Amino acid sequence: MKNDISNPSISYVNTVLCNGEDAANITVAAAILQQGGLVAFPTETVYGLGADALNADAAAKIYAAKGRPSDNPLIVHIADIDDVSKLATVIPDKAKLLMEAFWPGPLTIILPKKDIVPDGTTGGLNTVAIRMPSHPTALSLIRESGVFIAAPSANTSGRPSPTLASHVYEDMNGRIEMILDGGAVGIGIESTIVDLTGDIPTILRPGFITKAMLEDIIGDVAIDKALIEPDPSLRPKAPGMKYTHYAPKGELSVVETSDVVATINSLVAQSYGKGSRVAVLASKEHAGEYICDDILVLGEANKGETIAAHLYSALRECDARNIDYIYSESFHQTSLGGAIMNRLLKAAGQRVIRDD
Ligand code: AMP
Ligand code: MG
Repeated sequence: MKNDISNPSISYVNTVLCNGEDAANITVAAAILQQGGLVAFPTETVYGLGADALNADAAAKIYAAKGRPSDNPLIVHIADIDDVSKLATVIPDKAKLLMEAFWPGPLTIILPKKDIVPDGTTGGLNTVAIRMPSHPTALSLIRESGVFIAAPSANTSGRPSPTLASHVYEDMNGRIEMILDGGAVGIGIESTIVDLTGDIPTILRPGFITKAMLEDIIGDVAIDKALIEPDPSLRPKAPGMKYTHYAPKGELSVVETSDVVATINSLVAQSYGKGSRVAVLASKEHAGEYICDDILVLGEANKGETIAAHLYSALRECDARNIDYIYSESFHQTSLGGAIMNRLLKAAGQRVIRDD
């Protein structure tokens, strides 16, 4: 059956969902990439939607499939540190140190781009975002195809990023040629992005690699001001960070009152009073105290890795259950708190309920 494709510029293709650990499937996926097609594949952060990064027509298909704004650049995935010199004009020593410390892994580095990287891949910027992922399927696909793979998260623009192949299928069936299924991803939130083109290395998007981890290797690291004060007049340096992202269909609010459980229970009761469907995003510690039919437990409050791994699938589960209002606890406690709260607050459109 044809699925509902609202964008008339993309024609329906038959999407094959297959085992990403099977070498024969990776061979087929590599051929699709070489021919300018689209393949979704697992990485350690979230599923990526890949195309040949140096083929502007192929990269353009990513934007069409995702409904992604054309000024939002793509990350180029490589499988060998030496290949950075094919994509970037300048590689500062600090960039090299970070690559040696964290690659392969969830760190994206912004460098000045070479002409070989099309404007269509970088959203017209003169810089390029590069990452070497650690997921074996991602590495095999890059190596076997022989192409650098431009890959944003494999979701429809604005929806939560996919952490399971079934999430990708939900959003991309009929829009891309193939999905390599690698099961649940390990980390569950997108890579840390660090800009090495200025005087001081600057985090443009928080992620699993924290500021402290970067500073251990290269000394002082700044954070893009637009991330610290989400003030609409400040323009984030990563164009993608300005969009409301990761958002479920229901209205999500983050609750930070002195008695979070009491506040959430009262909000849930009010919403039920209006006949709405409500969900709570809860820590394991508080889950038993909520009076709500749809309690989604993200994990123990002091286990950032568990919470990050469950966040996006919980937001998608809210959509699947047709939830109208979602109330979430805050998850600041761990070293991953910055990255988790960045995603959660964006999903909430910065809506926070505090004591009056
Ligand atoms: P995604 O892969 O969907 O998580 O999106 C990639 C993110 O990287 C977006 O937020 C982009 O704005 C950001 N990005 C990619 N290339 C650049 C670049 N050259 N400069 C700044 N940000 C970038
Ligand atoms: Mg994304």
